[in-house]
Amino acid sequence: MMKMVYTSENHFIVNNVKNLIEAQGISTFIKNEFLHGAVGELSSFDSWPEIWIFEESDFERADEIVKSIQSSDLNVDWVCNNCAEKNDPSFEICWNCQSGN
Ligand SMILES: [Zn+2]
Repeated sequence: MMKMVYTSENHFIVNNVKNLIEAQGISTFIKNEFLHGAVGELSSFDSWPEIWIFEESDFERADEIVKSIQSSDLNVDWVCNNCAEKNDPSFEICWNCQSGN
């Protein structure tokens, strides 16, 4: 049974979280990935991209990864030294260039 593990209005964050979960060998897919911005300004909550896992048995591990990402944040965006992109505090590496914080 499939389960949703994470959602955010920020596609870059969703993709980053997805990568971190998949790095642990858990298969995921993203719902609503292509809705955002496809038709005018679709910005309702319904169009947020969602990370889903295929196997319910992976849920606890995926949930732990999400929680560890969220609990490690300092609630301050940081700016990448390499490419100057602004990054969500939950990420230790830049979403744009994968450079370290
Ligand atoms: Zn960067």
